[in-house]
Parts: sequence; structure tokens; C-alpha cells
Amino acid sequence: MFDKILIANRGEIALRVIRAAREMGIKSVAVHSTADSDAMHVRMADESVCIGPPSSTDSYLSIPAIVAACEITGAQAIHPGYGFLSENAKFVEILEDHGLTFIGPTSEHIRVMGDKITAKDTMKALGVPCVPGSDGGVPTLEEAEKLGADMGYPVIIKATAGGGGKGMKVANSAEEMKSAFQTARAEGKSNFGNDEVYIEKYLTTPRHIEIQVFGDGKGKAVHLGERDCSLQRRHQKVFEEAPGPSITPDERARIGKICADAMANINYIGAGTIEFLYENGEFYFIEMNTRLQVEHPVTEAIFGIDLVREQIRVAEGLPMSINQEDLQINGHAIEVRINAEKLPNFAPCPGKITQYHAPGGLGVRMDSALYDGYSIPPFYDSLIGKLIVHGRDRPEALARLNRALGELIVDGVDTTVPLFHALLGEDDIHTGDYNIHWLEQWLDSNI
Ligand code: ADP
Repeated sequence: MFDKILIANRGEIALRVIRAAREMGIKSVAVHSTADSDAMHVRMADESVCIGPPSSTDSYLSIPAIVAACEITGAQAIHPGYGFLSENAKFVEILEDHGLTFIGPTSEHIRVMGDKITAKDTMKALGVPCVPGSDGGVPTLEEAEKLGADMGYPVIIKATAGGGGKGMKVANSAEEMKSAFQTARAEGKSNFGNDEVYIEKYLTTPRHIEIQVFGDGKGKAVHLGERDCSLQRRHQKVFEEAPGPSITPDERARIGKICADAMANINYIGAGTIEFLYENGEFYFIEMNTRLQVEHPVTEAIFGIDLVREQIRVAEGLPMSINQEDLQINGHAIEVRINAEKLPNFAPCPGKITQYHAPGGLGVRMDSALYDGYSIPPFYDSLIGKLIVHGRDRPEALARLNRALGELIVDGVDTTVPLFHALLGEDDIHTGDYNIHWLEQWLDSNI
């Protein structure tokens, strides 16, 4: 059993992990850059270690500094949160060499799923339905043009190493192929050091539906239903809910079982998310994330399960405390991502918080590292909080979201809160009638 774990992250997700550890009687170590000396995760952890200057490359991404912090404090395991080193296979191998436990999947699974071409091949072989497209990488423009003509436009060209919405370009016609192909390759090269790309049919009206999976690494795996994350801006999620308003219990059971069986088959350990596009009743795999997702709390809300606790348990070698037959959906949950950004361009808006008040009451969870007088540093992600609401059904969850947003006070910086107030005035949000393009189109005409 672990006595002490180190959290290689910052912000709300570091708090999330500290909270789970504390409930399990495990001590926590925060690491921080010099820009984060006053951050809430540093205050809340049992111990803290400064690991470098503000730039992430020299602090939250510095493997030697993080390993040294473990050695100094005697932490036996590391929780990576999301982002930073959470999907870095090399990091996991280095931890193994130092006798440290990574609270997450094996380096092999991270590597396989981190390369989208290999991930798709693996999933296809495991019986998971995929978006129709090229058989592996497409090295030349000539091949790309031939595929575009054979498959029919529109198509999407994706960097195999891509992530965070980068390295993806749509070609609506043969004329657009050259520039889309070259841009996707260039973005892959400059952002991820890999210019390999592949091509998929571009689905025009899909929803983004993702399945939460969890495995014990010994051949047992479960699914915890889906999240609908169709409301996106620049391929980035802003509003997530569970269960998906368009998914029937039969569809959930069918795709959930395919995913759980696939994870059991590869002895997957820990939390993972298998992402699909969903159109006309069909699921098409796009990628797998081998970590806890930002939006995991909506799943926790409807199942009453602490996913971080489960991650820590299986990393300790204990069995999972969940069985498929015990997992029953209870109500509906919605999360909105509150970013320090200024509308209409969503420009990052760091600065000092002059007043902060978190909403509360029945069915309301606010995951945030803000406090009165805190200065949001300009060096990191603009996510400053996640508001999660839970109700007996979708209308109740939406009413609760409206009420909770009204209670929230974040003064001193601009935030995305006005966006959610405006969205709650839209009929389509209440009927659940939207796909992955809805928000961009709405923003174009409303913000
Ligand atoms: P990333 O790793 O950058 O998040 P994903 O492969 O998960 O990239 O795709 C992110 C988003 O891009 C999806 O949620 C969807 O909105 C859009 N997208 C990706 N592939 C396709 C496709 N084949 N057709 C239509 N939209 C797509």
C-alpha cells in the first residue's frame, strides 16, 4: 500500500487527486514551478517541492526534477493528472527504472494509443468500429489525392501524433487537398515532431460520444457508459454531459461491451476513454486517451464512483471495487469548463482574482484551484474551474446549472461564464439537439 504519492500536475486536477489520496489515508506531495508557489495545490498537499522555473518544459514536464522530488520526499507513486506527462511513455519507463509506480496504464499501452494510426489498427483488430479511411499512413500528396477521389470528399487529414485539436485539416474538395495535406503534416511536425498523417472520411453531422473504461490490468475491465462532448470550439470540448441525450440503453450496452471486452483483452490497467464519432446510429472510433479526462466528474456523478480512488487502488495491485453488473446510471450530470478567457475571441485572460465564490447546494460540485487574491499565472492552460451539476434527469440538471452559474463569482478576470448563460437560453441545448459543429456555427452568429 502507498504511504505517499506525488502529483505531477497543478490546478484543479492536482486538488482532485490530493482529495482522493487524503480520503484513502495516503499523504500527498505537490510539485510546483516558481510561478505556482502560492497555488492552492501547494497549500493543500501535505508536502511540496519546487521543481523549476515557470516554463512547463523546465518544471511540470521535467522528468529529472519530478523523479528527484520523489526521491527527496519518499513518494512511492506518481499520479500524472491530465496533460503534461500523463501520456508520455518514456516517463513511465523512467519511473519503472527508478522503482516508482505510475498511477496509470503501462508504457506500452500509452505508446500504442498515443500513435493514432497504431491505435486505430489495434482497435480494429479488437473488433471496435472505426471511421473509414486510409490503411495506415499516407506518405505522399499523390496517394492522398487518389484516396480523396476514391473515398469521396470531404475528408480529414490527421497527424498520427496529433492531440488537442492540432494537426487536423479538412479537405472539402480535390482543390483543397494539397493545402490541407501540407498543413496537417507541417502542424504534426512542428507540434509533435512527427509529420506522418492519415486520412479519414469527414463525418458532417456527428456527435462526439466517448466511453469511459476501467481495467485492473489482469483481464478484467468494465465500461462506465458514455459522455457526450459534442459542444466544441476548435475541436476542444467546453460542455460535457452523461448520459448522452441521444444514446439508448441498448446502444450503450452494445458499444460499452465492445470497449470493455477490448480493454480486458489487452489487460488494460486504470482509467481510459475510447472516443467515437456517432452518426446515424453508428459509432466510429477516433482515438483513445490513456488517462483520466478533464470531464471524468460527470461519469462519477451518475455512477457514484470515485475514479481516482480506483486508479490508486489498481496501481497498488488491489482489485477494482467495481463490477459491471453493479454499475447503474443515476440521473444526469453536466460539466462546463470555466476558462480565464475573454469573449468573443477566447483570448487567455490571466490576472488577479479579486473575489471568488463557489456555488454550492444539492447536486453541485465545483472543482477549482481558485481563491480570493490568487493570481492566475500566464504560463499554463486557461482552465480555472469545472462546474459539475447532477440532477434526477436532464431538465433538472440544466435548471441546476443555471442556478449554480448564477451563484458563481469570479471577479478580476474575464471568464467563459457568459457563454454558458447564453447557451442556456437556446432551445437546442434544452432538447439536446446538437452535433460537433453546432457551437462553432452558433458562435459565428451570436458572439
Ligand atoms: P485530438 O486528439 O486532437 O483531440 P481527435 O481525433 O480526438 O483529435 O478529434 C477531435 C475532434 O475533431 C472530434 O471530437 C471531432 O470534433 C473532430 N474530428 C476528428 N475526426 C473527425 C472525422 N473523421 N470527421 C469529423 N470530425 C472529426
